Amino acid sequence: MTKVDILIDGCEVLQPDFSILHDAVILIKDGVIVKIVEKSELDSSYTGELTIEGDGKLAIPGLIDAHTHATQTLLRGSVVDEMPMIWARILVPFESSIKPEEVYAGAMLFCLENIKAGITTFADAGGTHMAEVCKAAITTGMRAIITRSTMDQGEFIPDSMKDSVDVAIAKTEALYHAFHGAANERIQVWFGLRQLLTTTPALAEAISIRSKELNTGVHAHLAEHFDEVSYSLTNYKMRPAEWFDHYGLLGPNFIGAHSIKLSDGEIELLRDRDASAVHCPVSNLRSHGFSKTPFMVTRGLTIGLGTDGASGMRLDMFELMRLLKNAMQARYGIEINDPIVLPLMAVFKMATMGGARAVMQEKHIGSLEIGKKADVVLLAIKSLHLSPTADLPKTMVLAAGPSDVNDVIIDGQCVLKDRHFLQFDEDEIRVKAGEALLGVGKSAGLRLPSVYTQ
Ligand SMILES: [Zn+2]
Repeated sequence: MTKVDILIDGCEVLQPDFSILHDAVILIKDGVIVKIVEKSELDSSYTGELTIEGDGKLAIPGLIDAHTHATQTLLRGSVVDEMPMIWARILVPFESSIKPEEVYAGAMLFCLENIKAGITTFADAGGTHMAEVCKAAITTGMRAIITRSTMDQGEFIPDSMKDSVDVAIAKTEALYHAFHGAANERIQVWFGLRQLLTTTPALAEAISIRSKELNTGVHAHLAEHFDEVSYSLTNYKMRPAEWFDHYGLLGPNFIGAHSIKLSDGEIELLRDRDASAVHCPVSNLRSHGFSKTPFMVTRGLTIGLGTDGASGMRLDMFELMRLLKNAMQARYGIEINDPIVLPLMAVFKMATMGGARAVMQEKHIGSLEIGKKADVVLLAIKSLHLSPTADLPKTMVLAAGPSDVNDVIIDGQCVLKDRHFLQFDEDEIRVKAGEALLGVGKSAGLRLPSVYTQ
């Protein structure tokens, strides 16, 4: 008798080449996938501490949200259909007045929403009180790459949100020493560089040096707005990616979130440095414009996908994949009559292996393979919108959504089973987040209804 921690019995498995292994068994032990095999070939001596029925389910790798902001969960309903500048009028008052316990309450809700949507890893580009986000990720079982937002200049930034270079570095280092590698390496702490407009060259240089010394990454917003490009050209005579490169920041450990307003030369520069771009199709299409994704793919740049947080959308990577596919088709495909200007499975790759590479964990996550960490999502596929189908992987990307997520395993721990959390009362966490919204709503001057109901 050979005992494993989890045995998933008789499921369909999405393999790294996007073919399907039918009626298969996945064995998980000590947080790692130890076997993926057709059921007919499995030695019958295996038993699982936990056995999950796989009939009618498709196993896919956990999705990776490579750019998000957990703190902004409590900004739901506050930023859409608002006039400029949302950053100065809403975001800055919100971030400068939110309390640690409010961040924690919002981050707990955020993590549970992620898990229920099949997202097992998130890369948070930072906000305030990020220790609370680390704690929420640890408590809920999520994998996370967390940064603290650092800013040392900027017209609309209150002094309370700006740090000197030394203080900015020291605060991130404190977070790093407290949480980097915590919870069996599930938590990684990176440096955050909010954006070029709010960063002095001295801070950019210090982050570049210290991130290398600590062997960790840098997560920044890059080429998001025209304003940023204009500022960079006017003040530095360089385009944004060139500015980051000038300070040695571009490398395999660099995420450039958004990466919309890049020149062809900047795209090649990112590729040459092995840096990653992370698109956020919902916020990009709403506020920034079209990315040059097909061009980036042909140039061999690593691309991940991000929700940019819950303030502007449901945390739904399936929606992101479809939106990016359709937006690229509308922008580049139709005019040259190319129906596959961005293939469907290429966007799925961005949501899995692309994100894994972006967070420097491609050896551990991003695909279902023996020896990789067991971040596994089981989708219920016996539904009217997913079966029957001649091509299950493509249909999954075209038609699946969070409501199809049935079971979620992260780092070998089953955190969601039959759509129920094994350790949390979902409603209690939702109510606590509601109380936190009320608190930060008052202190940040958000327009909440006079009778706020949860
Ligand atoms: Zn962002």
